[in-house]
Amino acid sequence: MRQHYVGPDGRRGEPGQLVRLSDGRAAETRPVRCPNGHVLAHGTFTPVWLPCRVEGRNGHRTHRCHACDGVVYTPPLDEHCWRDDGQHPQT
Ligand SMILES: [Zn+2]
Ligand SMILES: [Zn+2]
Repeated sequence: MRQHYVGPDGRRGEPGQLVRLSDGRAAETRPVRCPNGHVLAHGTFTPVWLPCRVEGRNGHRTHRCHACDGVVYTPPLDEHCWRDDGQHPQT
C-alpha cells in the first residue's frame, strides 16, 4: 500500500519533506495512516529517529501508532535494514 504524507497544514507532501510554517519553523511531513490503517494525527503517534544499520545511510524517521504500535518507516526499510537474525530493528 502506498503511503501518503501530509504536512502540518494537512497539505499533501513528499516523505520526509520539511514544510515551512507561517511562523518560520519547519516541520516534517507525516504519514497519513499507520500500517494498520489508523489515521495518524497530532498526539496519536510518537515520532522517533532510527539510525540505519546500513553504513553510509542516514536513518529512518519512524512514526509509531499509539493505537496498535504499528510503525511507519520513512524512508521505508529495505532488505539491508533487517538484522541478521531477521528481527525488526528496534525503535
Ligand atoms: Zn535502513
Ligand atoms: Zn495503528
